[in-house]
Amino acid sequence: MKLSGVGASEGVAVGPAFVPRTGGPEPERTSIDEGEVEAELRRFRDAVEVVVGRISETADGLRESGNEDEAGIFDFHAEMAEDPELDSAVDERVKNLESPEAAVLAAGEEYAAEFAAMEDEYLSARADDVRDVTRQIAAELMGQAASGFEALHRPSVVLAKSLAPSDTARIQRGMALAFVTAEGSRTSHVSIMARSMGIPAVVGVGDALSGALDAETVAVNGTEGSAITDPDRETVARFEEMSQALAEERAALDQYRYKEARTSDGRRIEVAANLGSASEAEGALEWGAEGVGLFRTEFLFMERDDLPSEDEQYDVYSSVARAFGEKPVIIRTLDVGGDKNLPGIDQIHEDNPFLGWRGIRMSLDTPDLFKSQLRAILRAATHGNLKVMFPMVVEVGELRAAKQILDEARGELEGEGVKVGEVETGVMIETPAAAVCAAELAAESAFFSIGTNDLVQYTLAADRGNERLRRLQDADHPAVLALIRQTCEAAEEANIPVGVCGEAAGEPHMIAQLINLGVTELSMSAPSIPRAKKVISER
Ligand code: PEP
Ligand code: MG
Repeated sequence: MKLSGVGASEGVAVGPAFVPRTGGPEPERTSIDEGEVEAELRRFRDAVEVVVGRISETADGLRESGNEDEAGIFDFHAEMAEDPELDSAVDERVKNLESPEAAVLAAGEEYAAEFAAMEDEYLSARADDVRDVTRQIAAELMGQAASGFEALHRPSVVLAKSLAPSDTARIQRGMALAFVTAEGSRTSHVSIMARSMGIPAVVGVGDALSGALDAETVAVNGTEGSAITDPDRETVARFEEMSQALAEERAALDQYRYKEARTSDGRRIEVAANLGSASEAEGALEWGAEGVGLFRTEFLFMERDDLPSEDEQYDVYSSVARAFGEKPVIIRTLDVGGDKNLPGIDQIHEDNPFLGWRGIRMSLDTPDLFKSQLRAILRAATHGNLKVMFPMVVEVGELRAAKQILDEARGELEGEGVKVGEVETGVMIETPAAAVCAAELAAESAFFSIGTNDLVQYTLAADRGNERLRRLQDADHPAVLALIRQTCEAAEEANIPVGVCGEAAGEPHMIAQLINLGVTELSMSAPSIPRAKKVISER
């Protein structure tokens, strides 16, 4: 069966299919009879043994392939599954006639809550691991595949209706070979994540996906935007050839990695990377990133069930700052809402989340959270060249309010005798309102970065994730280009630099146009950097 959609991240891959179940397993029965206690306890212990065996196998496989750190995570999962405390909690519940599946889920929740409340950051972040493990045991007891991504233990092609950033953030490195989703477009977050993970993705295949969910193997062509379920031998051989050709093409682009990109008339264009986590920093430098044009901080908040503390944020921001040294790193303040929800913040249901409480709107309404992020950035700025950027701005008042909180944060830190670094402040131009008010914003900003993903969706009134609106998801539209032009003119007038950090920055057909309009920096998923440098130098 062939699925067609949008080629959202290039490359090809063939591998076993993995379909994550949404939500945790629901116990089929919650209670048992008195006469069943002993047998049910035996069943529980057998399930633990099976799960531990499976986890240890994964750990061994990872260790053999040299992934010691990841193997360590699975060792921890195995220990957790066999923990005597968990065993006695389940024992007690089953003796009180709870079914073992209900008992292990409930005990897992209690145990996870204990971890979450721990002072030690590392231990508190283990709450999710506890849940993963107890869900696996419950699923085993019910004869189901474990739920969600905790069951993704071998490199696979992930098939899903949609993948939220919090889903992709949970995938262990190396376990996703490719993504195929029913929903989404080139600028939805699953596509952005796939590109920065360097794996192929086909999104927006629509309802056809439901017919593919029982496939054993899937061949994905992220360049073309298609996928083939249970491919025959010839197809697999063809995909192998394509993969080889792609590797050769990448090798030919290698010479551009560390070159400074200059147009033929001598204009220097800075080419930077968009990052979603500190762990991507080294890889981005290897792709030739000359800085970070957009560090999306929301992933740091979404990977977990509680909010990261100021110190945790400081560690992350300073590690990126250190990795890039003198090269500029633009940290974007929290941008949740839209397709990015935040565990830990009460988000009310919104009929139109993309037109809702997101970006700077939420930050200004939650000043304590906002200030803790700004304090972390100011402290981390002592380790490198950090800049701060505000998302979803629509008027200069928001910029002023944000800068005031930044000033307060700086004042507080200085009062506490804490060292802070200098940070320039800039604005994302990703709403038509910001582009139209660019002159006013430029007067109070040190730089602009145009977020074409949102600028396109808001200008063309076309949801960035709706697969039916493909023709309206391209920055190459006269209205969008007019707003970019207006932004560049305002920036030039105020003598501030203007970058593009939306996906258009890495698209060969957009690069020359953006440069012609006056853009001086392009920021993109790191694997796109060498090709962008080539396109610039051929202009
Ligand atoms: C954008 O809107 O273009 C952008 C870069 O931000 P995000 O994709 O994170 O919304
Ligand atoms: Mg945006």
